[in-house]
Amino acid sequence: MGLKGLTHPKTAVRGNVLGGLGMLVAVVAVLFEQEILGIGGLLGGLAAGTLIGALFAVRVQMTAMPQLVAIFNGFGGAASALVAAGEYVAVSDHGSGVLVDKASYFASLTAQGMISHHAVESLAIGFAGLVGAATFTGSVIAFAKLQELISGKVYNIPGNQFLTMALTLGSLGMCGYMLVAPSVMLFWLLIAVASVLGIALVLRIGGADMPVVIALLNSLSGIAAAAAGFVLANTSLIIAGSLVGASGVILTVIMCKAMNRSLANVLFGGVAVAAGDQEDIYTGKIKETDADEVAILLDAADRVVFVPGYGMAVAQAQHAVRELTNQLKKRGKTVEFAIHPVAGRMPGHMNVLLAEVDIPYDDLKEMEEINPTFGEVDVAIVLGANDVVNPVARDDPDSPIAGMPIIDVDRARNVIVIKRSLSPGFAGIPNPLFANDNTLMFFGDAKGAIMSANTALEEY
Ligand code: NAP
Repeated sequence: MGLKGLTHPKTAVRGNVLGGLGMLVAVVAVLFEQEILGIGGLLGGLAAGTLIGALFAVRVQMTAMPQLVAIFNGFGGAASALVAAGEYVAVSDHGSGVLVDKASYFASLTAQGMISHHAVESLAIGFAGLVGAATFTGSVIAFAKLQELISGKVYNIPGNQFLTMALTLGSLGMCGYMLVAPSVMLFWLLIAVASVLGIALVLRIGGADMPVVIALLNSLSGIAAAAAGFVLANTSLIIAGSLVGASGVILTVIMCKAMNRSLANVLFGGVAVAAGDQEDIYTGKIKETDADEVAILLDAADRVVFVPGYGMAVAQAQHAVRELTNQLKKRGKTVEFAIHPVAGRMPGHMNVLLAEVDIPYDDLKEMEEINPTFGEVDVAIVLGANDVVNPVARDDPDSPIAGMPIIDVDRARNVIVIKRSLSPGFAGIPNPLFANDNTLMFFGDAKGAIMSANTALEEY
């Protein structure tokens, strides 16, 4: 029910609460039933967990959500690796009841008699350790990059490609070797190699590509959990892990498609940054505007579309946008929001910010839905967005972002672009939209600019 609730913004908060409650009941029931903790320990754990969770909820900014998700994925991976390690010790100790309990479970898996249940278990332990450890260290690097603890650049270590390949093949080989000659030493070596693999893989990916990597790491943490499910002979863990694994892969593919990049390009290609010649594109063609002129345009408009981007998130301009929207609606205008799937820096970034200020979900239009109607838009307000409205993606096959689907704001009657300067966005390329005849540049911080336009409209 929690997951179902999360499928729509209207029910998402309830879904989140339900999911959390479900986990609480599950954890408390297991700790209680297995007599792992007494009442005192349970209450202490609940208090500590609640405090940590509340601190995260209050203190972590929405823009810092990707790194929080990254570190949570990492913990998931580490948990799976630890389960594998713990179980390895139990398997080595044949006196424990663990294997006996699971014998019938593995018997059903190995009914064909192709492989023994020891083999299934050894393989699962090795695999959970490999994926879990690589997910943990990879996620820590992703967290460090996004939190700016280390530089977000692409670390081009000489021979990295060869090293990554060797580590991947080496760890897979060790995993396979555990089938024939399992040993505790081999297991720890596997964990060590997989940990270096996670670091080597993520170090060479630029900070701006981290959201895609995080979606991938999320998927890997699910796969590690599913492997841990095989280790523990726990069907629900296998199901839950597979669910996370599959949905993480789907999200990764959606993000790659929306940026017109292949996953291989994100993982191994570095970021396509082209300097571009700003002078040629902008000189003599930029028309500046101010709050008063924007107010006049808005007053005359029937249909206004906001196109929010990363800059709205940085400026935390969503409250000001809500105020302006209210005033426009009061004046009988149609107000909509065009949402690009990779606007901002994480999937659903714009949806979350606009939901925070109670913009009705029906006013949010997906790119495919709103694009054909831009010819009838009187004023399009591009708010801190850049790449997602760059027409070169559509018109120039040689551009680094060629083929990336964009929001066709340039087809609106009037375009107002709000940003602080002519600086490029994430892709690092100039945007000819700014020099178009129907574009006016309103330079300034997104929040301040919207507030001043709102005041000017009130006074108009
Ligand atoms: P963008 O292309 O990165 O451009 C954002 C613009 O916001 C900048 O040009 C900047 O210009 C402006 N800005 C920054 N702070 C501002 C402020 N305080 N007030 C006003 N403007 C401000 O953003 P986008 O159009 O949203 O596109 C997202 C990009 O991120 C895409 O290239 C996408 O591929 C990439 N990406 C997205 C995701 C995701 O999941 N959403 C994941 C990975 C990569 P000034 O400096 O001149 O103000």
